[in-house]
Amino acid sequence: MSGCATLILAGGSGARMGSDVPKQYLDLCGLPVLRRTVTVFLDHPLVDNVQVVIGEEDKNNYEAAVTGLDLPDPVIGGITRQASSRKGLESLASTNPDIVLIHDAARALIDAATIDAVISALDLNHAVLPGIPVADTLKRVLGDTAIVSDTIDRTTLWRAQTPQGFRFDKILDAHRQFENEDLTDDAAVAERAGTDVAMVRGNENNFKITTQDDLERAKTMMSSSMGDTRIGTGFDVHAFGDGDCLTLCGIEIDHEQGLEGHSDADVAMHAITDALLGAIAAGDIGNHFPPSDEKWRGAASYVFLEHAAKLISDRNGSIANIDLTIICETPKIGPHRVRMQESLASLLTIEVSRISVKATTTEKLGFTGRNEGIAAQAVAAVRLP
Ligand code: MG
Repeated sequence: MSGCATLILAGGSGARMGSDVPKQYLDLCGLPVLRRTVTVFLDHPLVDNVQVVIGEEDKNNYEAAVTGLDLPDPVIGGITRQASSRKGLESLASTNPDIVLIHDAARALIDAATIDAVISALDLNHAVLPGIPVADTLKRVLGDTAIVSDTIDRTTLWRAQTPQGFRFDKILDAHRQFENEDLTDDAAVAERAGTDVAMVRGNENNFKITTQDDLERAKTMMSSSMGDTRIGTGFDVHAFGDGDCLTLCGIEIDHEQGLEGHSDADVAMHAITDALLGAIAAGDIGNHFPPSDEKWRGAASYVFLEHAAKLISDRNGSIANIDLTIICETPKIGPHRVRMQESLASLLTIEVSRISVKATTTEKLGFTGRNEGIAAQAVAAVRLP
């Protein structure tokens, strides 16, 4: 079978998450939920192209979430899930793929084996969905009374998941025919059109991230499954020179001296940048930003740090933690510590609790002890998929 397109439906709001940002754009271990979902399909050898359908108001969130990925412009969805799905299908009509997979953006823990199962069942069926047999006993509860009215036989009941797979022409026809109904999944649209829908075994982990509890559960599962942890170290020194302020971790600090250097001489940020590059064996700050290049004279060091972070996110990795030690007699670091952590967290879009900023002196010994400059060392742990 050739020509497999995937639609990712990302039009939902964050209502049940109690968040202003829709759930599909929230952070899941260093990357947005949507980016994780999209990447699974982009990386799948049987999927030829991926089209995301988004809410009109989420264009900026979308651009930020998928930056650098090979995707066409998003399709703007409709008011209901069914309408969004139909608009996505219409956008694929000109390419007319053999089959299409339709997937909820909020199911970020989708695995390649489930995708394989759906695609291979399409050899013999026009419509396929993954599901899980219901294991809990089911009770019907009446209105607000919370009184059980009866027990439902669960033996034939399954919970529906996505991706749901279809022969493209069949599902497009079904959506066009029943466009004014409000059906909650695409299999229901196929059923409405009289198509037989086959069920394959889904994966318990492929749940929809709907509530804050779901997000925490996904984080726990994801961090335990990201076993390839890398450690990097960085070390840097800059000498004191003329000036009345210096920059550490992006924070300007008034001081009787400045720091000398080709860039803004943010020795702390340089050490962290080298630690991140070291963790992914991507050389050092001098390889990426040669001091011989006039372009970097006086550069703000966040450019270096963001570059290192991007190399990690390009590999779909995430930063587990950073531990920085600034070594100097002056200035006093303590009063600036929290702002430094916040500055780094915001640049790297990770939680403040993953960044430690410490300081020490060398008891008046050596060059830092003689107050000739500042040294910084950093350790970073990076998780790769
Ligand atoms: Mg340096």
